[in-house]
Amino acid sequence: MDLVNLLLILLITLGVCGLFLFPLLRDTARGKGRWGINLKSVNCPRCGESVPQIRTPTSIRQAAWGGWTCVRCGCEIDKWGAEIPQGKLNT
Ligand SMILES: [Zn+2]
Repeated sequence: MDLVNLLLILLITLGVCGLFLFPLLRDTARGKGRWGINLKSVNCPRCGESVPQIRTPTSIRQAAWGGWTCVRCGCEIDKWGAEIPQGKLNT
């Protein structure tokens, strides 16, 4: 294997990483969206119930993208603490 091949592999690897890293950093910075990491604790927007740090997902979407169903009022929220309208739950 020569240096050109090695550089090519390195560039492709960086490109693929960037593809995932970009939406992650963007959503973390703006505080919404499916990507991103929210380290702050959030409260239910309807009743103010605090969301536990360790959540049990009640749907595939919650398992994949984060989020929570409020135990007190049944409101579905995303990981940023924003209420998800019923019509958008299956997307
Ligand atoms: Zn609630």
